Amino acid sequence: MRAVALAVAIAAIGDTHGLRPAFRCALDPTAYESMPAPGPNDWLANHPEPGQTFDQFVRSNPNRPTAQRHTIYLQPLGQFDLTLVKEWTEAFFMMPVTVRPPLDFGSAHITSRKNPYGGQQQLLTTDILALLQKQLPADAYCMLGITMIDLYPDPAWNFVFGQAALRERVGVYSFARYEGDPRRSCKVLAHETSHMFGIEHCIYFRCVLNGSNHLAESDARPMHLCPVDLRKLQWSVGFDVMERYRRLSSVAKKAGFRDEAEWYGLQVQRCGKS
Ligand SMILES: [Zn+2]
Ligand SMILES: [Zn+2]
Repeated sequence: MRAVALAVAIAAIGDTHGLRPAFRCALDPTAYESMPAPGPNDWLANHPEPGQTFDQFVRSNPNRPTAQRHTIYLQPLGQFDLTLVKEWTEAFFMMPVTVRPPLDFGSAHITSRKNPYGGQQQLLTTDILALLQKQLPADAYCMLGITMIDLYPDPAWNFVFGQAALRERVGVYSFARYEGDPRRSCKVLAHETSHMFGIEHCIYFRCVLNGSNHLAESDARPMHLCPVDLRKLQWSVGFDVMERYRRLSSVAKKAGFRDEAEWYGLQVQRCGKS
């Protein structure tokens, strides 16, 4: 498996003529890191995905926020603080985010087990997805369940980081294996919520939408979108790209994500006056 050629990555961004100058500047492929060839245990070596160009994305007729369905809901399963994750998600998607009161999953009839190897408590994802679907608010674009407890999708599996029902616009994700690292939590929310917009895994650049096979690979991917996926999300939501970068820079600074704060700041410096 070889690295993706720059010409292929540029073609995936599509024709940018007619876009506003600052947006075109933000999409300049030379400002982004190209995707290196995968190592033997990495995602792309084991899941040879074809990639999804901007044009293919538009033609797939994906879900988009509407005047009726415009809010991203976060549903904690249990008691924990989602203030930072909420702020990050709001800035990343430029959409309102509402954190729902914690769900008492003890009384919610969610199947659980003790993991056959490690003995830790695990919740069955399909039960949670069914419950979220029943509780989906009328103005929800999507609802994401979040838990600090480990998950499993099926008795035959050891564990799963999360699972989504994209058509039903619900997903559930566990932060149990992220050891309370807020950067990992914010990154996983950005990645998984992007899937809710019909954005598939990225093979073109180093990008928060890169697939990942193991924790080291997810830690290595950046927190930001590449130009192909930035263009997709902007097409869906319609935000001002520089305003989004300014907000993300300030949330990243506040959260202590220094590299990302700097990266977003640089993009504003580079393109904000275009
Ligand atoms: Zn994914
Ligand atoms: Zn990408």
